[in-house]
Amino acid sequence: MSKYEVEIIEAASPRTEPILWNDLPFGRVFSRHMAIAHYDGKAWQPPRIQPLRELSLHPGTSALHYGQALFEGLKAYQRSDGTRFAFRVKDHWERLNHSALRLAMPEVPYELFSEMLRALLRLESDIFPPDLEHALYIRPVYFAVDPWLGVRPSESYLLVIYLVPVGPYYSGEVRAYVETEMSRAAPGGTGSAKMAGNYAAAMLSGKKAQKHGCQVSLWLDALHREFIEEFSTMNVFIVLRGPKLVTPTLERGTILPGVTRDTLLHLARHLGISVEERDISIQEVTDGLVHGKVLEIFGTGTAATVMPIRGLYYEGKFWSLPTESPIAHELRRLYRRLLSGEIESPNPEWIWVI
Ligand SMILES: *Cc1c(COP(=O)(O)O)cnc(C)c1O
Repeated sequence: MSKYEVEIIEAASPRTEPILWNDLPFGRVFSRHMAIAHYDGKAWQPPRIQPLRELSLHPGTSALHYGQALFEGLKAYQRSDGTRFAFRVKDHWERLNHSALRLAMPEVPYELFSEMLRALLRLESDIFPPDLEHALYIRPVYFAVDPWLGVRPSESYLLVIYLVPVGPYYSGEVRAYVETEMSRAAPGGTGSAKMAGNYAAAMLSGKKAQKHGCQVSLWLDALHREFIEEFSTMNVFIVLRGPKLVTPTLERGTILPGVTRDTLLHLARHLGISVEERDISIQEVTDGLVHGKVLEIFGTGTAATVMPIRGLYYEGKFWSLPTESPIAHELRRLYRRLLSGEIESPNPEWIWVI
């Protein structure tokens, strides 16, 4: 028996309305249950499952004041043969702990994480999506709950996992606002951790982006404002004539190491496209657009998978991109074939069968 056997302490009442898979607003429909584990300052307590409902928190809750809060985002799918799996669970768990280490939070054991996830997915078996266009988005959130105001790492923490049935993420054209005044992440900072604060720091830029008719911000490196880093919620890829796929290097530690980014690098190599992880200046991008060398730009992340970008707003000027995105679409198709099992997973662990 597992050390972290999950106890269902209370079952939720049955779902009264069916999930409308073809009309799902992102992040508004939830699983009926959530899995919760408490770290009490010394050890992880046995995880439990209960109906998804409000948590009761003291106003002094450490995460609200000092920001020890992070999350993950991964997906579970159902193949047409009925196989149910979550994608790259171990990699998301590793990144959760990478984030936790940076925020001085205790490590989450793999067994705890995977047992909670498996028990929750099994219990919520009635909300698995009908096809690979749709998914169960899995949201683990991990935060500090000491109710004292002293500034120091909290002793107690909660890890909560719940599910969100989702369809395709953004629809319509996506334009990116190149942020030239604010910074998201500096070397030595928290840019490579999936922490709540990084999102808070990006929101004002998101408002500026919208004012300029853009849906996402594209961040430049904080030191020189020269190299492109990533979007607020997605990594960035550039397709150069060749074709050659280029994405910023993770070396500076200012970019979130996306699991989708890594999957696409594998898929691109599988396609025989050459890939480079290196510095890309915004100048190289705009020059490349002038000379027809930059063919596509796209964002990648678990929620959106591959999102073609139609244009850039940079220093008062709008740059259009070609309307076709053949490489982005080909990679998206390959990603789907990886999920469906039509092409073999580079690593069998990626397909974590429930
Ligand atoms: C989550 C996230 C991504 C995408 O990561 P995936 O593992 O591919 O989902 C990219 N950038 C930021 C800032 C993120 O928070």
